[in-house]
Amino acid sequence: IRETSTSDPAPRPQRRRVKLTHPDRLYWPDEGVTKEGLADYYTEVWRRIAPHITGRPLALLRGPDGIAGQTFFQKHAWKGLNPAITLVPDPAKPGEAPLVSINDLDGLIGLVQAAVLEIHPWGATLADWEHPDTLVMDLDPGEGVAWEAVITAAREVRERLQQAGLEPFVKTSGGKGLHVVAPLKPEADWPALKAFTKAMAVAMAADSPALYVATITKAKRRGRILIDYLRNQRGMTAVAPYSPRARPGAAVSMPLGWSELGPDIGPRHFTIGNTPARLAALDDDPWADFRAAAAPLKV
Ligand code: ATP
Ligand code: MN
Ligand code: MN
Repeated sequence: IRETSTSDPAPRPQRRRVKLTHPDRLYWPDEGVTKEGLADYYTEVWRRIAPHITGRPLALLRGPDGIAGQTFFQKHAWKGLNPAITLVPDPAKPGEAPLVSINDLDGLIGLVQAAVLEIHPWGATLADWEHPDTLVMDLDPGEGVAWEAVITAAREVRERLQQAGLEPFVKTSGGKGLHVVAPLKPEADWPALKAFTKAMAVAMAADSPALYVATITKAKRRGRILIDYLRNQRGMTAVAPYSPRARPGAAVSMPLGWSELGPDIGPRHFTIGNTPARLAALDDDPWADFRAAAAPLKV
């Protein structure tokens, strides 16, 4: 059953119907997180992750033997997927293999069954492929950059996006950096979003060349933060809020309140293990108004 009620866009936790084979297979061996443990985690966070991963194309990092084995990034559907997973042809790419999408918790557990370790949604929905509804500024610290400097960069991105009339939110990447994410009314097209985010990255690098770079040239990145605007292109993705990372530590990309940014919460602070306790302890979900805060990109 699809949950499409507009009054309750975040479906409640449900009973799982998709069967897992090899539930005891270790996906994060050092943390003891098994395939079933991953399914349990997703069931727990389903209400919060659902708005970010349903109804849009997904790229997927898979690892049938967990993070210790070989992993691969897949943008297209493959054979044998659970029927709860929807295959969606890209309207602009006739003849290509379809993309993958889910509508409900069964679809998500179907992805776990297919050994998906990370979920990377598009910044556009299936209802409107050509008009992105999410902007992501990916802050990538080069070698030797202090965490405090990454926080400063996130605050600067926040201010610039606010000046453009947008409402930015922040999350850890679960890797090395932070992602500043702004919900958009899907009006501007992909080229407009890319041009806007590129101009912002280039301006930051021009204003503070000792701190920021806007190009991916490796040599220039040491000691600086790459303002990676290239997520904002058609077909490009960024890791979903609450998605785990297929790296040691079982960190997840955690939505934060702006006031939570500080030395105590590093990019890998929140994990599959400690996320349920965080969510239980939170009085207010800092991302509760995420979709409601959508504003048009003025171009
Ligand atoms: P970090 O904080 O460590 O930078 P991140 O998730 O931001 O974590 P990046 O390397 O900055 O990692 O961003 C890579 C993004 O590019 C991923 O989030 C993913 O959506 C996308 N991507 C594209 N191709 C691949 C690939 N082959 N493997 C992994 N990610 C890929
Ligand atoms: Mn990054
Ligand atoms: Mn990046």
